[in-house]
Amino acid sequence: MHCPSCEHRLVAGQDRCDLCGFHLGALDARYGGQDVAMDQITDTTHFLRTHDRDHLLDSMDAFEDQFPQLHPAIYIAELPAKTKLPEFATWLINRARVSVLDELRQSENTYLFVIDLTSRSMTVTCGYFAEQFVSENDLRELLEDASPYIAAGDLREGLGKLIENLRLILRRNYRLLLKSMKPGGPLATRDPGTLAKPLMDTSE
Ligand SMILES: [Zn+2]
Repeated sequence: MHCPSCEHRLVAGQDRCDLCGFHLGALDARYGGQDVAMDQITDTTHFLRTHDRDHLLDSMDAFEDQFPQLHPAIYIAELPAKTKLPEFATWLINRARVSVLDELRQSENTYLFVIDLTSRSMTVTCGYFAEQFVSENDLRELLEDASPYIAAGDLREGLGKLIENLRLILRRNYRLLLKSMKPGGPLATRDPGTLAKPLMDTSE
């Protein structure tokens, strides 16, 4: 995860940016200190038509069949003008409690897409576990590819592209990772168990 204010890289559990001093608690002060109950798709505006939503849920289920430990989630809202989307998304991934069929999803395993209908823009933020499988470039490409559709209000096409392209990127990166972990590869001694870190200490 990156500091939403200066984009400095934060490590797991770090809630204050050591470069600019930004504190995640400041986001609670701005957006609220309570958890946000979410589904796989949370559309606070009821913008998506039922069959578009069902179509997207099918793609998301297919994604999770392939990557059972990784979960895309979508949040659609009309945010107040001048909302800084990266900040809002950082706050939301720390506050979101995504449940599917009564099962609570781990935020660190989530790719959260936030669509703001006010500015017709979007962003993606990743939990600490999920982010290690995609590069900054991957995420930039993802957003660039879907942005024209979101800007035009074609959420079905834009969100469909996001989910499908994320799946393709992960498949490609996963193959590269497997290759690198083979004997003699650069990650041969890396223990995959150490990759999972909590997104944020919630014990306070
Ligand atoms: Zn910062």
